[in-house]
Amino acid sequence: MLVLSNSYNDVLVLCSLLVAILASYTALDMAGRVATAQGRAARWWLTGGAFAMGLGIWSMHFIGMLAFSLPIPLGYDLPITFASLLIAIAASAFALWLVCQQTLPWGRLALGALLMGAGIAAMHYTGMAAMRMLPGIRYVPSLFVLSIVIAVAASGAALWIAFRLRFASPHVKLIRCGAAVVMGLAIVGMHYTGMAAAQFPLGSFCAAANSGISTSWLAMLVIVVTLAVLAFALMVSVLDSRMAARTAVLAASLAEANHELMHLALHDNLTKLPNRLLLEDRLEQAIRKAGREHGRFALMFMDLDGFKAVNDAYGHHVGDGLLIEVADRIRRGVRAQDTIARLGGDEFVLILELGGPQDAASVAEKLVDAIDQPFTVQRHALSVSASIGIALFPDDGIEQRELMANADAAMYHAKDTGRNGYCFFEASMNANAQAQLQLMHDLRLALSRGELLLHYQPKFSAPNARVVGAEALLRWNHPQRGLISPEAFLDQAERSGLVLQIGDWVLNEACRQMRVWRDAGRDWSISVNLSALQFAHASLPQTVAGALERHGLAPQHLTLEITETTAMRDAEASLVILRQLAAMGVGISIDDFGTGYSSLLYLKRLPANELKIDRGFVNELAHDSDDAAIVSAIVALGQTLNLSIVAEGVETPAQQEFLTRLGCDSLQGYLLGRPVPADDFPAVVCGDAAR
Ligand code: C2E
Ligand code: CA
Ligand code: CA
Repeated sequence: MLVLSNSYNDVLVLCSLLVAILASYTALDMAGRVATAQGRAARWWLTGGAFAMGLGIWSMHFIGMLAFSLPIPLGYDLPITFASLLIAIAASAFALWLVCQQTLPWGRLALGALLMGAGIAAMHYTGMAAMRMLPGIRYVPSLFVLSIVIAVAASGAALWIAFRLRFASPHVKLIRCGAAVVMGLAIVGMHYTGMAAAQFPLGSFCAAANSGISTSWLAMLVIVVTLAVLAFALMVSVLDSRMAARTAVLAASLAEANHELMHLALHDNLTKLPNRLLLEDRLEQAIRKAGREHGRFALMFMDLDGFKAVNDAYGHHVGDGLLIEVADRIRRGVRAQDTIARLGGDEFVLILELGGPQDAASVAEKLVDAIDQPFTVQRHALSVSASIGIALFPDDGIEQRELMANADAAMYHAKDTGRNGYCFFEASMNANAQAQLQLMHDLRLALSRGELLLHYQPKFSAPNARVVGAEALLRWNHPQRGLISPEAFLDQAERSGLVLQIGDWVLNEACRQMRVWRDAGRDWSISVNLSALQFAHASLPQTVAGALERHGLAPQHLTLEITETTAMRDAEASLVILRQLAAMGVGISIDDFGTGYSSLLYLKRLPANELKIDRGFVNELAHDSDDAAIVSAIVALGQTLNLSIVAEGVETPAQQEFLTRLGCDSLQGYLLGRPVPADDFPAVVCGDAAR
């Protein structure tokens, strides 16, 4: 048979290939959008994607047709051409829907490839039919079948690739480009195979040629519209995926913020350890677990000894740094499954699962040792120690409150018995707490019942052993327990605030007694101890002035003793109060000097006129050359700062001799005179004067 010879416009062929590749890329991209979107958005992406992809495939086909020319005029029937477009869109919609399913088993893939391949072939041959050739186009059977096989195979490959590329993977863009080129080539291959199958018998003519949309401007129009649609679709897709990515980032950071908030609410900001809230929760869990499994665990309360002094002397920054270091050492001392919490201040709590009964003791011992090693915080060498109280479940309590209270009581017991150690809870400790309560109750009454009294300890001038004054020391004559020393009740009284009333009474009583002695011709002065709470009270200067005035005592006959630790606690505030007192003419003595952390700078600015070397140093003088060095350093310091130096706790002639030689101004101690009631004082002093 003779057929019409045909030819192709190379530029349009190239265009058709480019459009096919671009359409494939768009299709793959849309498939990804449909797969990751949800609900209504997914439907929109499916519709838009099917439209863009269908239009792309169809226009590739149509441009390929336009590239084709026969030696007779050609045209295309509009309704049939439009039908071929609809077929392309429908096939694309089906394909997109298919690859967005959860799974794509081989059977479904094969069926999909078949349907989509058939769709593309249908589009192609419908498009051919739009030429309305007379007589009809004849197809070479082998090439015709090959074109359909290519359509099905290309569809299968496209579906499979699109399914695998639904979700973003690291190099998704690059893989998608490669896949688009392969798909584009396959679609184009199908088209031109189909074209090669077509034979136009000699003498045929195109019935659509006259109804005629003519071809050249149609080609331009189709290319421009298609490219515009595809570009638009891609742009929207890229924008949307950016937005989706940004939304994902936002959602992630929101989740992170939530997590952080939760962490903040349950952890201590400084040490990052669990706080009280989380501790209570963990304790509840531990109780439940141990109850279920008949297990045991230990609850430990740990408090630092000497932390306050560090804080007072170096400020909160150093104190905070120290707490962080302490938390680190605790962390290193326990196992990962144990809970460490910080209750605030210098209080830590641990929950330890127990293997054997010795477990708690060995952990506590390890912790005490670890904390006992010196710390370096901001170049300051600091030392603190730990006191630990241990309560065991179920022996010492089966519920939270009981366990906490008992561990706390054990901790106080550890503190009372020398600090730097640990202590298991015992029932007697609660009894102890009871007794303390009773004592405070009694103390409240003691004032009104007149059970408080003062003893006086003489203070001697070092070189000539002459009495220069007395220190007033508080005693409590308890109706049942007899004479009680201030150390047994002052801490408690300080905590309850009772110390204020007591302090007022002491000040007044000491001044009254001094008036009596001065009236008897003694030129002594009196020293009175101030508690930290008294010292912090704004009315202190008035109280002092009131007591002096009431008894007609000159201010220089009264010395107020405050401990070094108290004076340094809030150094600036101390300065203000001390200056007021000093301005009144009252003497100021820094008591227990050497036990706290004084900053030399503040010491220099303090309007004190006396330093009292702590009796701990004096006591050790004979055995310990370190203490001798410290004492001589303090004496030298005092002399430089023009302070009078008092050594207290002098018990042996050797100490007296040594302290005198070092240059102490005054001495005080059992060797020279014990504290005695006021009535006995003159006798002690006269006896001494004879010495
Ligand atoms: P402090 O101010 O260091 O008083 C000296 C303490 O050492 C007194 O104990 C005294 O009896 C004791 N002492 C004196 N000489 C010797 C000695 O040679 N060897 C030994 N080992 N000890 C000696 P006291 O009377 O039991 O007072 C203890 C602490 O109670 C005082 O220490 C002081 O800080 C406080 N205190 C006493 N009375 C008052 C008071 O009226 N108000 C306030 N706020 N505190 C007071
Ligand atoms: Ca004192
Ligand atoms: Ca002292």
